[in-house]
Amino acid sequence: MSIRTARAAVLRQVGQPMRVERITLGPLGPGDVLVRVKAASLCHTDLEVIEGQLACTLPAVLGHEAAGVVAALGAGVSALAVGDPVVLSWNPHCGQCFYCEGGQPILCTQYLANGPKAAHFDGRTRLACDDGTPLHQLMYLGGFSDYVVVPAQQAVKVPAEMPLDRACLLGCAVMTGFGGATRVARVQWGQVVMVIGAGAVGLAAVQGARLAGAAQVIAVDPNPARREMARSLGATVLCDPATQDPADLARALTAGRGADVVLEAAGVLAGFRTSMEAVRPGGQVVWLGKMGVTEEASFRWGSLMQEKRIIRSSYGGARPQQDFPAMARAYLEGTLQLDSLVTARIRLEDINEGFAALKRGEAIRSVIIFEEAAAP
Ligand SMILES: [Zn+2]
Ligand SMILES: [Zn+2]
Repeated sequence: MSIRTARAAVLRQVGQPMRVERITLGPLGPGDVLVRVKAASLCHTDLEVIEGQLACTLPAVLGHEAAGVVAALGAGVSALAVGDPVVLSWNPHCGQCFYCEGGQPILCTQYLANGPKAAHFDGRTRLACDDGTPLHQLMYLGGFSDYVVVPAQQAVKVPAEMPLDRACLLGCAVMTGFGGATRVARVQWGQVVMVIGAGAVGLAAVQGARLAGAAQVIAVDPNPARREMARSLGATVLCDPATQDPADLARALTAGRGADVVLEAAGVLAGFRTSMEAVRPGGQVVWLGKMGVTEEASFRWGSLMQEKRIIRSSYGGARPQQDFPAMARAYLEGTLQLDSLVTARIRLEDINEGFAALKRGEAIRSVIIFEEAAAP
């Protein structure tokens, strides 16, 4: 493949705004695909990199929640064809290490070792700055660019009818929340489920719990608009933690036991503590939110007792090849709602303001819409 150019938002220094730059791509290695990105949404994990809490070699293109169309194939790629609509996964995995063998690709030894380098498995990046400097790709991906080169395993084909400005959400937030409820917590019919935090992940968890057959879904969020959004997506009980103790509410609905499942999707210490107080003895807690890795968290010891199970999950037990097309079909059938999660559609040039809005808590998801790219 000849060298192409693209327009990408490049982060050169932690704490500095990204700049839209002309970059070069390729060549495609064996097993790579070139994807023309159509939509990419802004996630808190990108913000962690911008603010320096998550290590990533710079300069880099961030963005790990993206969807587009396959534009070219590297050698040996047979599962995809040019023109296929794809949602990008942020969990490349070697398929052979201890954890991949054990069915936990999210813990892939190679991926985690390469993560901060933000290069592909072979140690190289597929992007470069205009002056030839290697340009790193967050999670081998770098979705804030109108073209990216990713390992084919990260490009997951979805039905052609799927609108890509909503499909991109499947790649991170929706997978994490929906999978957190269905794959990790394994919510069962008739259960009482609490979801703490009604952002993109929490709202997907509400929907996962509802579709799994939960009898009650309690949505906890201090923001009234988000609580109402949770109601529209299937929450049956709303809780403002400023005026009502969520644990009391969970017990009132369950003859004093507590919720069968609690999913924390707010990423605040109060939320993690509440999850342990509100779950019943023997119940399941899934932590989807996160705090800074050097922060400490303390708990009332008694809240941790009584056979409670806690799992921290980064990607909702994702099996992208199965889950992305299945969630896309659920959207097309009307059972999984995505439209209301997109609260803004922005241009690549507006990316810094988009992240500022995310930080201020104003956005559920802002999605960058890439215009028709100029011919390379
Ligand atoms: Zn994300
Ligand atoms: Zn592996």
